[in-house]
Amino acid sequence: MRGLMQDYPLTVDSIFRRTEAHYADRLLVSAGPVPIRTTYGAWAERTRRLGGVLDTLGVSADGRVGTFAWNSTRHLELYFAVPGTGRVLHTLNIRLFPEQLTYIANHAGDEVVFVDRSLLGLLAPLLPTMPGVHHVVVMDDLGPQNPAALPEITTAQVHDYEDLLAAAEPVDFHVTDENQAAAMCYTSGTTGNPKGVVYSHRSTWLHSLTATTASVAGVTDADVVLPIVPMFHANAWGLAHAAPMVGAAIAFPGADMSPAGLLRLMQAEHVTLAAGVPTIWQGVLPLLDGVDLPDLRMVLCGGSAVPQALSEAYRRATGLPITQAWGMTETHPIATTGSIPARNLDDGDDALARRRSRQGTAVPGVELRIVEPGTTEALPWDDEASGELQVRSPWAASAYYNPDEGVTLAAEDGWMQTGDVAAIDSFGSVRLVDRTKDLVKSGGEWISSVELENEIMAHPEVAEAAVIGVAHPKWDERPVAFVVRKPGSEITAEDVLEHLRTRVAKWWLPDAVEFIDEVPKTSVGKFSKKDLRLRYSDYRLD
Ligand code: ADP
Repeated sequence: MRGLMQDYPLTVDSIFRRTEAHYADRLLVSAGPVPIRTTYGAWAERTRRLGGVLDTLGVSADGRVGTFAWNSTRHLELYFAVPGTGRVLHTLNIRLFPEQLTYIANHAGDEVVFVDRSLLGLLAPLLPTMPGVHHVVVMDDLGPQNPAALPEITTAQVHDYEDLLAAAEPVDFHVTDENQAAAMCYTSGTTGNPKGVVYSHRSTWLHSLTATTASVAGVTDADVVLPIVPMFHANAWGLAHAAPMVGAAIAFPGADMSPAGLLRLMQAEHVTLAAGVPTIWQGVLPLLDGVDLPDLRMVLCGGSAVPQALSEAYRRATGLPITQAWGMTETHPIATTGSIPARNLDDGDDALARRRSRQGTAVPGVELRIVEPGTTEALPWDDEASGELQVRSPWAASAYYNPDEGVTLAAEDGWMQTGDVAAIDSFGSVRLVDRTKDLVKSGGEWISSVELENEIMAHPEVAEAAVIGVAHPKWDERPVAFVVRKPGSEITAEDVLEHLRTRVAKWWLPDAVEFIDEVPKTSVGKFSKKDLRLRYSDYRLD
């Protein structure tokens, strides 16, 4: 027997209609050289006009619409107008290398790119390498007091966003197929070419709804959300859909990603929920002395491991420990969160701190397993056995968009392969051990570079630490730690090893500790082991 409920499509335009109908008075703020203060009501009106602009520009029915933009109210207009009219939003990561940007704009088939004027200097030289881009729409985040003429671009027509909007007719949004593509985003590609993930309306809707549940971020209309995590990378962790869905106000940082700017915004706008990668929170931490953030209820952090020391430093400074989340571009991205289960609430401070350093439990709608790499054989959840983490969910990707030869995502039986290695405890709490490619293989046994880094970063005089495997004549590979001292510290290699001796197995101790000025970072602020390996490719251990 089949159920007799309506076949109501889960589409992004239904989120839009809800926001428009229920939350017209809630605030949207963009920081920046020219701050914007507006409401969802005004945003909705402009978003409908933007739909008209896309028609006027002649963007094809399911054409790719690129954005090259900071987090801002205008970017949020694009987030809804593009899929609302059946087109596909393609957020270009502004921090990628030029060749990568050319590759992904051409691979996705972008017909138009909407660009913040403050970023035009980065994009303009690349436009001749993107022959499919016929229109460039400039969003003037620098404001009318900077009326420099729009640049001559020979390969595309250049327009001003506000001019187009003023001349456009508002349109209705009506997408009927929930499985239609809504947006795409390319992973930075630690190896090979960037890979395209294509989100559907359905996956976006369901991921957004989950973000509003208490098991994820519990977003409501009482919140003021600060998405520091970029809208050009993995949907700003879903917050740019979830906040409008429930009418949460949003404070966008715009181009000012400085720790001082972010802190100012948190105070001025009474931010309740702020989300960013660990390097962001590492940067804000030293400014928290004597600062009061009474409205803040959640600091969400993920994208790479959240060191226990960082989370505890936030607990001391703000009263709020960091809430960790794990996920990938391929999972929309949220797949697990580290909220403390009720059964553990009375554990002592140390146990809770250790628990918060885990990646946490699968959110509703996500199923996990760990397997022996290359098989579909599930390993036990005993927090001992570790294997490749695999995901099954309505918001996990089934495949990449037109992948290169040999690039796959799904295991034989359809589960998504993450390339992460994890152990899972008996109640399903995930502890990420490493990425498959970052594990250090010593004498046939694996050493977790992540765990070593966490232990080293727990030293009060260490600012950053990254561990990589270096070829070794006897052991195959041995760990080497690259450490950044805190300002004024004179900590030595022997001090680091001494600190580790009581914390890790003897055979895990790095063969060398090198001091560097800064750990190289990826386009989204994560430690780039790839760059570190390249930089030290001549490094030898005897
Ligand atoms: P990339 O880093 O390749 O650009 P993503 O941004 O999609 O791609 O990153 C996904 C990866 O980031 C995960 O596979 C995992 O290795 C890492 N990651 C994400 N969240 C966490 C976390 N909380 N702890 C540790 N690693 C994480």
